[in-house]
Amino acid sequence: MKRIAVFPGSFDPVTRGHEDIVIRGAQLFDTLVVAIGHNTTKQTMFTLEQRKGWLEKLFAGLPNVRVEVYEGLTVDFCRRLDAHYVLRGLRNGVDFDYEAAIAAMNKGLDGNIETVTLFTRPELACIHSSIVREIIKSHGNVSAFVPPAVEINP
Ligand code: ADP
Repeated sequence: MKRIAVFPGSFDPVTRGHEDIVIRGAQLFDTLVVAIGHNTTKQTMFTLEQRKGWLEKLFAGLPNVRVEVYEGLTVDFCRRLDAHYVLRGLRNGVDFDYEAAIAAMNKGLDGNIETVTLFTRPELACIHSSIVREIIKSHGNVSAFVPPAVEINP
């Protein structure tokens, strides 16, 4: 049986932290689907097209990684793809508490889906999309925090 995993997120914007989790996660699964969770009522800084374009460009060289967009529950999306794994990244204890709650609730929704977490590289643990957005709003340079494929003009 092929091991298919979903890496869900908003990627608003994509960071070096996300990139690292995908590169490492791609080695663990036969297929890794980077899944942009789309919620029409949730305001994002970057459009769906921008975020999808960045992710596709970034992972074009990884043959077992593809990018998709979904609405609704992550477990429903996983079932549609026959994916039994949800991949998430962990930076710190705050992430741990949040991810543990989400993983437990996803398990309650679908007992066949396992959440697999990877610890971030220490040098990337400080990178949060929300802080990157704050820097962008103040016209700062975020090139140290986002991959070169993510073109953002300060
Ligand atoms: P969400 O809105 O679902 O938290 P994000 O786009 O912020 O989506 O993050 C998606 C996933 O990437 C989450 O598992 C998050 O913990 C992980 N992640 C985000 N930033 C980093 C980082 N710097 N290092 C490792 N994992 C990260």
